Amino acid sequence: MKVAVFSAEAYDRQFLNAANANADHELVYFETLLEPKTASLAHGFPAVCVFVNDNLDPETLKILADQGTKLVALRCTGFNNVDVTAAAQLGIKVVRVSVYSPYSVAEFAIGMILVLNRKFHKAYNRVRDDNFSLNGLMGFDLHGCTVGVIGTGKIGLIFAEIMHGFGCHLLGYDLYPNPHFETMANAHYVDLSDLFTNSDIISLHCPLTPENHYLINTETIAQMKPGVMLINTSRGKLIDTKAAIEGIKSRQIGSLGIDVYEEEDNLFFRDLSDTIIQDDTFQLLQSFPNVVITAHQAFLTRNAISQIASTTIESITDFQQGNALKNEIHPPEKGK
Ligand code: NAD
Repeated sequence: MKVAVFSAEAYDRQFLNAANANADHELVYFETLLEPKTASLAHGFPAVCVFVNDNLDPETLKILADQGTKLVALRCTGFNNVDVTAAAQLGIKVVRVSVYSPYSVAEFAIGMILVLNRKFHKAYNRVRDDNFSLNGLMGFDLHGCTVGVIGTGKIGLIFAEIMHGFGCHLLGYDLYPNPHFETMANAHYVDLSDLFTNSDIISLHCPLTPENHYLINTETIAQMKPGVMLINTSRGKLIDTKAAIEGIKSRQIGSLGIDVYEEEDNLFFRDLSDTIIQDDTFQLLQSFPNVVITAHQAFLTRNAISQIASTTIESITDFQQGNALKNEIHPPEKGK
């Protein structure tokens, strides 16, 4: 089947081509994002394959449907960038990669905690400058800390297990509690305000939904422990960035690690080193010494990319052969 692969990076080509070796689909790669103005590139392609920042709003989907596209294959878990209801109305099936190495993201979140706490980012640069002073590099023991985990699904649970290994106390919050979470010693579900009030570190592992947009905002930041460390490897719009900046300035937020940013689709996954970035909020955020930003790379391990590629090719083959789609996303039922 002909597949238009958008937002294609070199590693996507390498791993998708390898996964496609036996399936023999015709994969055509486009570096650009899929959005209304680029959707015509998919003309005549029954399938498109997209990533986190491709914009599959009703306008893009209508263009795709009119051009003959019948399948959208997401190379990711989250699907907040697809209007699934509009896709269903247009007769387009949507599949995702519902499971791929959750270790990739969980381990990355822990990396961010270690960097921010022990200030690896500053220490690395200091030593390169022959500055061997330790002033300003003091951290704290993770052992004995209280860590709040918002979303205890596949990634959140593994994150919690690793933090448990550090000797942390764990507070969980989830709309659908995971029975495995409370089997760990010192791990309890609490309501969200208790999690905010009592956590030294808070890490976000829930999907972005209309209900939790700006879950972290001026009011919820005010409930947190002064000096809290906040980690977001989930989706940018879970945090009101302007509120976070005020929290950092007042020192209510002691440190912030983000792999996702609410306006990242204008920035991430491209080299803008020769351009003047116009996003003042992002630039201000970058200027703080206690903020570490990475460009949506938590998933980027060999293991994860290989699983993403093989599941994606398998879904495309299943669609082509009229088989049941294991990773299909169905529109929400009315009233839910
Ligand atoms: P999952 O579906 O296994 O777990 C998500 C959990 O969040 C579920 O237990 C669900 O009940 C819970 N949840 C849903 N809404 C909630 C809310 N409002 N408050 C609290 N909990 C809520 O998903 P996962 O595989 O663990 O992935 C979690 C998220 O991580 C994804 O949705 C995605 O946004 C993000 N992610 C980021 C990257 C990256 O590279 N940065 C990669 C993969 C996934």
